[in-house]
Parts: sequence; C-alpha cells; structure tokens
Amino acid sequence: MKKIDELNGMGPKTKELFQKLNIDTIEDLITYYPKRYNVIKRTDMTSITDGDKVMIDGIIDCQPTMLTISKNLKKIIFRVTTNRSIYNVCAFNQIYLVKELKPGTPITIIGKYDKKRNTINLSEVRKGLLPKKVTIEPIYKGTEDLNRKTIAKFIDLAFTNNISITDNIPNIYIEKYKFNEKIKCIYQIHHPSDIVSYRKALQRLKYEEFYLYLSSIQQLKQKRTEEENALKKVFDRKKVDKLIKSLPFPLTEDQIKTVNEIEEDMKNKIRMNRLVQGDVGSGKTIVAFIASYMNYLAGYQTALMVPTEILATQHYQNAKELLENFGMNLALLTSNITKAKKEKIYKQIENKEIDFIIGTQSLIQEKVKYASLGLIITDEQHRFGVHQREELKNKGVFPDVLSMSATPIPRTYALTIYGDMDVSSIKTKPKGRKEVITYLKKEKEITDVLTLMKKEIDNRHQIYVIVPQVEGNDTNDLNNIDTLKEKMNLALGKIAKIGVVHGKLIPEEKQKVMESFEKGILDILISTTVIEVGVNVPNASTIVIFQANYFGLSTLHQLRGRVGRGDIQSYCILIAKEEQERLKMLETCTDGFKISEYDFKTRGEGDLFGSRQSGDANFKLANIKRDFELLVRVKQDVENYINIKKIE
Ligand code: ADP
Ligand code: MG
Repeated sequence: MKKIDELNGMGPKTKELFQKLNIDTIEDLITYYPKRYNVIKRTDMTSITDGDKVMIDGIIDCQPTMLTISKNLKKIIFRVTTNRSIYNVCAFNQIYLVKELKPGTPITIIGKYDKKRNTINLSEVRKGLLPKKVTIEPIYKGTEDLNRKTIAKFIDLAFTNNISITDNIPNIYIEKYKFNEKIKCIYQIHHPSDIVSYRKALQRLKYEEFYLYLSSIQQLKQKRTEEENALKKVFDRKKVDKLIKSLPFPLTEDQIKTVNEIEEDMKNKIRMNRLVQGDVGSGKTIVAFIASYMNYLAGYQTALMVPTEILATQHYQNAKELLENFGMNLALLTSNITKAKKEKIYKQIENKEIDFIIGTQSLIQEKVKYASLGLIITDEQHRFGVHQREELKNKGVFPDVLSMSATPIPRTYALTIYGDMDVSSIKTKPKGRKEVITYLKKEKEITDVLTLMKKEIDNRHQIYVIVPQVEGNDTNDLNNIDTLKEKMNLALGKIAKIGVVHGKLIPEEKQKVMESFEKGILDILISTTVIEVGVNVPNASTIVIFQANYFGLSTLHQLRGRVGRGDIQSYCILIAKEEQERLKMLETCTDGFKISEYDFKTRGEGDLFGSRQSGDANFKLANIKRDFELLVRVKQDVENYINIKKIE
C-alpha cells in the first residue's frame, strides 16, 4: 500500500503528526473515519427563537467597522443581506475580518442568534453561499498539532489519487448482499450522499471488519484440528472418580459435566482449547485440579498460571492438600521465592520430579524447561493477553489448554468472541450456599456500615474492605487507603485487628498480611483490588466496597464473590455517591450471567472481553455489542464459506 508521503504537500513534519495517529499508509488515512458530522443546512429563520444556533448565507452589505471597547477587546460589526432580511453580525477580536470582508461578497455566517438586537454573534464565517442541498461535513478527531481541517484536507486529497485496496469479503457475499465497491463505500463514510447510501456503505465496511476477525478465529480453530495426534491421553477414569469421592463434598451437576467434557477433550487427538466459565464461588478451582490429575495419570506435567502471587499461593496450598495424597508432586513458582530455591525447582521440573507447577507470570518469563508439559491452565483467563497464553503454549508440544474465567459472558456472545475455544459453563452453585445480602449505602451512612461491621466482628467473622486506589489526592475522601485505615482504627480498633494490602507492597509483605487474614489473625483486611480474583477465606462474612461506582457490575459481583463461600450468612455493602441506579441491580440480583448481560448493555463490551477486544479485535466502525446481529450473520457466512471451499 502506498505511503502517505506520496501525497502532495505532505512534508516530513506533517507525516510525523499523522504517524502519531497510527496513520502511515493511504489505506490508514482513508480509514481514519470521522467521529461525527456537521449537517450544513440553511437555517429557517421564520421559526427561530432567541439563542438558537443559526447558519445563514447572504451578501455583505457594508464595510465592517471596528469598535475598541477596551485594550484587549475589539468589537467588529457588519451587516448581511439575505433573501428575506438584513441581519447584524458581531464578532470579537477577529480584526482580520475588517480587511477580508468586502461589501458585495457572498458569505456564510454561523453563530448564535440574539433576537432582541436582531444580531448574530459570530462563531464561524465561510466564504461563499451555502450549497442548495443539505450537505454533511465530516468532523475528524484531531490532535493538538494536527487539526481536523488538515486531516480532512489530506483525506480528500487521497481520494483524488488512484487507490487500490484489498477487499476481504469473498465475491459470493459481495454479490449476495449487493455490496458496492469498497473504495466507494469508504468515500461514502467521509462524504455521505444520503442516509440510505451511507447506511449501506457502513454495513458493508462493518461486515468486512467482522469477516476478517471471525475468519482469523476460524483459522486458529483450523490450525488446532491440524495439530492432530497432539496428545491423545490415556488414563483410567476410575482413578479420577476415586479422587472425586475423596472430596468433602459432592460435585455439582455442572462441575461433573465440565469434568466429563475435559476428559473427552484430553482423550481426543485434537488439542483441548476449552474455556470454563462460571460465576464466582461456583467451584472452578476443583475442576482445574481434577484436570491436572487426569493429565498426571496420563504421564504429563501441568502448569497453572494465575494473575497474582496471593492466588498462586492459595491454589498451591489447596492443591497440595488434595493431590499429594494421590501421588502428585507440586511446586510453587513466584517471583518472591529465593533464587536458590527457584534453581532447584527448575531442575526438578526439567527432571520431571514435579507434576504440577503453580505460579504467576514467572511460569513463562523465566527459563523454565518442562520435561513434558501436557496441560496449561490459566485462571481468570481474561486477564492474560493472548500472547502470554501463546508463549506458555509454545513451551510444550501441543499441550492442552484450559482457561478458567469468572466473568460469565452470555453464551451467545461467548460463542462468537471465543469462537476458537470450546466453552463449558458452570451455572449450578454448590448446595447449602446462602445468598449474599447486598446493601447500597451513601457515604454519609457510614455509621450504619460500622455498626454492621462491629456485629460481624463480635460474631468472630472477618471482613474485607475494598478501596479503588492506593493514593487519593483528596484526603477528605474515603478513597485514601491510609485515611481509611485510620478511620477504621478509630471506630473498630478496640475490637478488631486491621491489616492493609495494596499493589505497592513488596510481595513478601503482601503474602504475610494475606496469610494472617487467612489464618484469622486479622479481622479486617483493607485492600485495593489485589484480592479481586480468587482468594478463598470461608470465614469472611462481609465485604465493604468504597466508591463502588468506580467499578463495573461484573467486577463488583466478582468482589462480592469473596464472601458467601462457607455456610455463614454474608453481606456485601456498596458505598457510592453516584450511579445508585446502576448499582441497585446488585441489591436484587446474584446471577453473574444476568449481571454481565446488564453490564454489557449499559457499559459496553470493554471490560468483558479483556484482551480479546483491545488486542485481537480491532474494529474501527463495528461494535460487538451494537452490531451483534450482524456479527452472528457474518459468523454464519464465514463458516459456510469454509464448507464451500472444502467442496471445491
Ligand atoms: P471459583 O469458581 O470462584 O474459583 P472456588 O473454586 O474457589 O470458586 O470454590 C469456592 C468454594 O467452594 C471453595 O471453598 C470450594 O472448596 C468450594 N466448593 C467447590 N465445589 C463445591 C461443591 N460441589 N460443593 C461444595 N463446596 C464446593
Ligand atoms: Mg477461582
């Protein structure tokens, strides 16, 4: 594709400014779409009221005059004759107008109408009369050094050249939907001729964006089936059932279903790429442990990667307790263990003395050589970039991949977005769980909150307190973690031991505080969202979340999942000044799928799809949520096309 410097007048300086907007080629430039439009249309002055914004055209009636009101304030006045009337026009400090506006010149005036004085307060003046028909002017998002008019100028210039651009839609669909030529559609977005043509062009370009994305997902899927004979694992299910029987609880229906699906995947010759999604507390962890046991029975090592050290440690302890009895050797690998110990673990992994390695990113960052990596599990998968997963995957020969996510994505969306993965959903909750009671409170109702906290501490239960940021500028605000600790100490310090964890603590300290909370030495844990994912302290009955409006509903729901893990009645208290309406939903709803659907509708898909949305799917016009129907249709078309290709 041609570079933008081939355009007339595009010097090295301007080029650099465009490059800051990621515009390098002519194609980049012409697909830099307007963020909105100005509709250019003569205002009907018969139905105008005071203060309205108007656009009229006419002839300058007399030489503009300038009045000096003060040293820094000059007023310019002139008159414009239109078809039906004469208007006064007034501008401030635009002295150049006096020279430029000659009587008798046709002109367009944009400004605010002052009815009493029959005056238009000028905001913009353009040479020439308005076009007869209504026209639409594209408005581009500029930068400090590159204004929208310059962008518009170069885009228009680009279209005067002969542009060849790749069309990614197969011919059969171009014919089926009677799509216009791509370049014409792109032009239509910049300069819509009428609403019907505009919509048609837009639909075609969105279609193509989805088509590209979904066919790349299909290719990933295809690649997987081609990686045949990856690892056709052999193990005895009876042994697995023995492990399941040893658990202190029966598995839920959905847990069993998921375990069966995993078994099938593993025994199958196609590499497993499965997403297990389930609400917080639905018991995904145990499913992951069972999968690691199957993998061990088949003779392979498992790596479990989680986002935080706290979570890694907790999983490690739980896994060890369960799996060591069944002959597995486990290791914890995080950045805060000593170098000597690390070296030892590396050796053991290399010599296959370790069957199950649990850790954070260090699992991929460090020079870990696996003897026979057969299964990779990522917990809270949406927090990992696709690249990281790929990196880890590359460490083994076609290992199976199991991803766990606590953000339940409505099934239809999941199927489309994670089309390259199989999805298992755990919806049934373990028996005997009491629903968490949720209250929405204002900051001034803090006394109520403290009373409830006191009661829970008297009952020897523990409490999480969540604050969105580590440092707040406003010390009066409760968002400052130190201020909050002081306040909590004043109110509850006599009866409760209080600890603090946040992202800036060194790992050992974080670990120490978390351990004291897990052991029940601390009654209250004040924390930023480092505990958001996965931590399991069944004796914690209450979670208090300050500035709840700062979070998405799904995140709040996940945080709420930190309590209600045992059989005690638990509480979640959301404190917020604003957005009470949105947060209210959480008071009545505890179904993660419903909440994420609502979040999806009200906040967009941003938080839901994590790296999927920001990295893999890069849409300029299309939007997964708004254009979901189109997305589903394109998916169908992509699949059909592959079948057509197969027959050919
Ligand atoms: P999550 O899906 O959020 O990762 P966990 O796996 O941490 O949930 O499980 C939450 C708690 O529920 C843990 O204490 C776990 O031991 C327990 N649990 C898991 N499955 C069951 C079950 N079938 N019956 C009862 N308790 C269960
Ligand atoms: Mg979990």
